[in-house]
Amino acid sequence: MVIRTLADFLPAALQSKPRVPTGSPRSMPPEVSSFAALSDKLGYLSKADLKLIRDAYKFADEAHLGQFRASGEPYITHPIAVAGLVADWKLDAQAIMAALMHDAMEDCGVTKSELIERFGAPTAELVDGLTKLDKLQFSTREEGQAESFRKMLLAMSRDVRVILVKLADRLHNMRTMAAMAASKRGRIARETLDIYAPIAHRLGLNQTYRELQELSFSYLHPWRHAALEKALQRARGYRRDIVSRVQNDVVKAFSEARMRVDISGREKTVFSIYRKMREKHAGFAEVNDIFGFRIVVANLMDCYHALGVLHQLYKPVPGRFKDYIAIPKPNGYKSLHTTLVSPLGTAVEFQIRTDEMHAVAEAGIAAHWLYKVGAQKNVNPSDVAQRLGAMWLKSLLDIQNETRDASEFLEHVKIDLVPDAVYVFTPKSKILALPRGATPIDFAYAIHSDVGDHCVAAKINGEPAALRAELRSGDVVEVITAPGARPNPAWLNFVRTGRARSKIRHFLKNLEHEESQELGLKMLSQAMRAEWKAAL
Ligand code: MN
Repeated sequence: MVIRTLADFLPAALQSKPRVPTGSPRSMPPEVSSFAALSDKLGYLSKADLKLIRDAYKFADEAHLGQFRASGEPYITHPIAVAGLVADWKLDAQAIMAALMHDAMEDCGVTKSELIERFGAPTAELVDGLTKLDKLQFSTREEGQAESFRKMLLAMSRDVRVILVKLADRLHNMRTMAAMAASKRGRIARETLDIYAPIAHRLGLNQTYRELQELSFSYLHPWRHAALEKALQRARGYRRDIVSRVQNDVVKAFSEARMRVDISGREKTVFSIYRKMREKHAGFAEVNDIFGFRIVVANLMDCYHALGVLHQLYKPVPGRFKDYIAIPKPNGYKSLHTTLVSPLGTAVEFQIRTDEMHAVAEAGIAAHWLYKVGAQKNVNPSDVAQRLGAMWLKSLLDIQNETRDASEFLEHVKIDLVPDAVYVFTPKSKILALPRGATPIDFAYAIHSDVGDHCVAAKINGEPAALRAELRSGDVVEVITAPGARPNPAWLNFVRTGRARSKIRHFLKNLEHEESQELGLKMLSQAMRAEWKAAL
């Protein structure tokens, strides 16, 4: 049994000396700034790979010669740091090379054909996917950004390494943003919070997700962040006694059950506390009274065994148990969650999972590479993450096919990034994950666009239900279609998924002129009739 010391209950930022701005918990390892330090991380690659990487480094170093970052450091330190973060995920040589050269096309006039010739097509494609479109092509910055973003997402749906390098790039930029002009910081932090953090979450890269959120928050609201952080540290001090008492009880219970487990404490991030306070209109004390432990066990059945040990130790809070092993989250996350009442009356949250589940919980889709080079070559813990990640990427392609302009695409994607999900079942017990607030129409389009287009009625748990009814987890949803039926424009007012929205809009755009006139008249008279009734 591994027992962690009290220091483990403090976030990493409080333990290690060089702190990130305003002391956010740092989850990913610190970055490297020299090629020598980067090389030290590449022990998992072959000699031939290392030679290719050295070539890419030399190429990038020459391309960026004479350029400097806002901090005054030579520019090349940035691509090296990004490559270092990518190496922490144990990505392959092509991804490391792309990380080293990711800004070369945009900032140094290097062409794609030059990269293909020197480093081969796969690496060149990766770099190209990371390169923004030429600003000069667009009339406004928003338009240029939206188009560049669409280009990157498409590249990423072909090759997920594109987004992994991009996330590492964004993470390093956020970590070093203090040197940047204040006017730029707000915009970049907002974009990170709205788009990059949710993408990281969607792909299960939770460490990265938390750090991006934390850094964005500290730049968007520096005073709130500082105040909450101080309050958190104080609360941690007060809580020390109860935390160690619970920990001792738990350790003892597992040793009596002769179970080998790894116990560690979990702390909430400043941002998650802030968000809870806002959502629940609650004070700091109300959202901060809960603390948690993570129990890592050897195998799947031990998860349930450990759950039994904990429920025998303290009473569980009814309704708080969740089995994310039987029903994983859409990003592949698996664990058992339960909340217990400690002898002092405080609620304590527990997460129970195996090592493999833990790797996926922290690194998501990147756990695929992490594990491939690890000792257990024959297990692939991230199958679920891979499959679900691929499903999400495919849904992006669907949205892309049906939207014409980039800002509309971006709007749809933002909707799809909503992390909260409900899980519903088809009549044949197939499970579907939809964003919170989704309706039977969203469900119909999630099954197939034909089902959505011809949907006329729905049943939830066997009972007739409105097409705009909000679905809840566990609902069995059945959609009734009719061959002549067509999407109703009014659906746009309540559908929740980007997919349904884009499919309905696509259908409406393709209506013949006369048909749309007819439809317009129908809607107008419907609206007038409603007004008329209301007036009576
Ligand atoms: Mn960059």
